[in-house]
Amino acid sequence: MKCFNHIDQDAIGSCKSCCKGLCVECAHDTGEGLACKETCINDVKEINEIMDRSKKIYSIGTKAPLITSGVMVYFLFAALFGGIGVYDYLAKGRLKEFTFIMSFGFIIIGVYVLIKNRKLKLNC
Ligand SMILES: [Zn+2]
Ligand SMILES: [Zn+2]
Repeated sequence: MKCFNHIDQDAIGSCKSCCKGLCVECAHDTGEGLACKETCINDVKEINEIMDRSKKIYSIGTKAPLITSGVMVYFLFAALFGGIGVYDYLAKGRLKEFTFIMSFGFIIIGVYVLIKNRKLKLNC
Protein backbone atom coordinates (compact mmCIF):
# COMPACT_ATOMS: atom_id res chain seq x y z
CA MET A 1 0.00 0.00 0.00
CA LYS A 2 1.18 3.50 -0.81
CA CYS A 3 0.52 6.74 1.07
CA PHE A 4 -2.63 8.50 -0.08
CA ASN A 5 -0.90 11.90 -0.16
CA HIS A 6 2.55 10.75 -1.30
CA ILE A 7 2.20 8.16 -4.05
CA ASP A 8 5.93 7.40 -4.03
CA GLN A 9 5.97 6.62 -0.29
CA ASP A 10 5.09 3.27 1.23
CA ALA A 11 2.27 3.45 3.75
CA ILE A 12 3.09 2.40 7.31
CA GLY A 13 -0.57 1.96 8.16
CA SER A 14 -4.03 3.25 7.45
CA CYS A 15 -6.19 5.91 9.07
CA LYS A 16 -8.69 4.51 11.55
CA SER A 17 -11.32 6.99 10.36
CA CYS A 18 -11.07 7.17 6.58
CA CYS A 19 -8.89 4.07 5.94
CA LYS A 20 -6.50 5.92 3.62
CA GLY A 21 -2.89 4.71 3.52
CA LEU A 22 -0.48 6.89 5.48
CA CYS A 23 3.30 7.32 5.36
CA VAL A 24 5.45 8.27 8.38
CA GLU A 25 5.03 11.93 7.49
CA CYS A 26 1.22 11.85 7.25
CA ALA A 27 0.37 9.47 10.09
CA HIS A 28 -0.50 10.62 13.57
CA ASP A 29 -0.44 7.98 16.28
CA THR A 30 -3.42 8.55 18.59
CA GLY A 31 -2.30 5.73 20.87
CA GLU A 32 -5.17 3.58 19.64
CA GLY A 33 -4.77 3.60 15.90
CA LEU A 34 -3.40 5.93 13.25
CA ALA A 35 -5.08 9.08 11.97
CA CYS A 36 -4.47 11.51 9.12
CA LYS A 37 -2.44 14.34 10.64
CA GLU A 38 -4.60 17.14 9.27
CA THR A 39 -8.15 15.93 9.03
CA CYS A 40 -8.91 12.81 11.03
CA ILE A 41 -7.31 13.21 14.46
CA ASN A 42 -10.55 14.36 16.08
CA ASP A 43 -12.58 11.71 14.26
CA VAL A 44 -10.30 8.94 15.47
CA LYS A 45 -10.38 10.31 19.02
CA GLU A 46 -14.18 10.29 18.85
CA ILE A 47 -14.22 6.74 17.47
CA ASN A 48 -11.95 5.63 20.32
CA GLU A 49 -14.19 7.38 22.83
CA ILE A 50 -17.35 5.78 21.41
CA MET A 51 -15.68 2.36 21.57
CA ASP A 52 -14.54 2.95 25.16
CA ARG A 53 -18.02 4.03 26.18
CA SER A 54 -19.78 1.09 24.57
CA LYS A 55 -17.25 -1.22 26.20
CA LYS A 56 -18.20 0.28 29.54
CA ILE A 57 -21.94 0.10 28.84
CA TYR A 58 -21.78 -3.58 27.94
CA SER A 59 -18.95 -4.25 30.42
CA ILE A 60 -16.85 -5.81 27.68
CA GLY A 61 -13.45 -6.93 28.87
CA THR A 62 -14.34 -6.80 32.53
CA LYS A 63 -14.86 -9.85 34.65
CA ALA A 64 -18.51 -10.85 34.79
CA PRO A 65 -20.04 -10.78 38.25
CA LEU A 66 -21.28 -14.14 39.52
CA ILE A 67 -24.88 -13.00 39.44
CA THR A 68 -25.76 -10.01 37.30
CA SER A 69 -28.19 -7.30 38.39
CA GLY A 70 -30.92 -8.42 35.96
CA VAL A 71 -30.78 -11.98 37.20
CA MET A 72 -30.68 -10.71 40.79
CA VAL A 73 -34.11 -9.10 40.28
CA TYR A 74 -35.64 -12.45 39.28
CA PHE A 75 -34.13 -14.14 42.33
CA LEU A 76 -35.34 -11.29 44.54
CA PHE A 77 -38.88 -11.79 43.27
CA ALA A 78 -38.50 -15.52 43.79
CA ALA A 79 -37.39 -14.92 47.38
CA LEU A 80 -40.22 -12.42 47.89
CA PHE A 81 -42.96 -14.78 46.72
CA GLY A 82 -41.32 -17.68 48.51
CA GLY A 83 -41.13 -15.59 51.68
CA ILE A 84 -44.79 -14.60 51.46
CA GLY A 85 -45.73 -18.23 50.90
CA VAL A 86 -43.72 -19.45 53.87
CA TYR A 87 -44.99 -16.60 56.07
CA ASP A 88 -48.60 -17.36 55.10
CA TYR A 89 -48.08 -21.02 55.86
CA LEU A 90 -46.41 -20.44 59.22
CA ALA A 91 -48.56 -17.53 60.40
CA LYS A 92 -51.95 -18.55 59.10
CA GLY A 93 -51.48 -22.24 58.60
CA ARG A 94 -52.61 -22.26 55.00
CA LEU A 95 -50.62 -23.18 51.95
CA LYS A 96 -51.00 -20.89 48.98
CA GLU A 97 -49.76 -22.72 45.94
CA PHE A 98 -49.86 -19.53 43.91
CA THR A 99 -46.95 -17.89 45.76
CA PHE A 100 -44.80 -21.01 45.46
CA ILE A 101 -45.60 -21.36 41.78
CA MET A 102 -44.63 -17.70 41.25
CA SER A 103 -41.46 -18.18 43.29
CA PHE A 104 -40.53 -21.30 41.36
CA GLY A 105 -41.30 -19.55 38.07
CA PHE A 106 -38.98 -16.66 38.89
CA ILE A 107 -36.19 -19.07 39.84
CA ILE A 108 -36.60 -20.86 36.51
CA ILE A 109 -36.52 -17.55 34.60
CA GLY A 110 -33.53 -16.35 36.66
CA VAL A 111 -31.52 -19.48 35.94
CA TYR A 112 -32.51 -19.38 32.27
CA VAL A 113 -31.39 -15.73 31.92
CA LEU A 114 -28.21 -16.48 33.86
CA ILE A 115 -27.26 -19.28 31.45
CA LYS A 116 -28.22 -17.21 28.43
CA ASN A 117 -26.17 -14.22 29.62
CA ARG A 118 -23.18 -16.45 30.19
CA LYS A 119 -23.41 -17.72 26.62
CA LEU A 120 -23.75 -14.20 25.18
CA LYS A 121 -21.19 -12.83 27.65
CA LEU A 122 -23.62 -10.08 28.62
CA ASN A 123 -23.10 -8.60 32.05
CA CYS A 124 -26.38 -6.79 32.48
ZN1 LIG B 1 -8.13 9.83 7.75
ZN1 LIG C 1 2.27 10.67 3.20
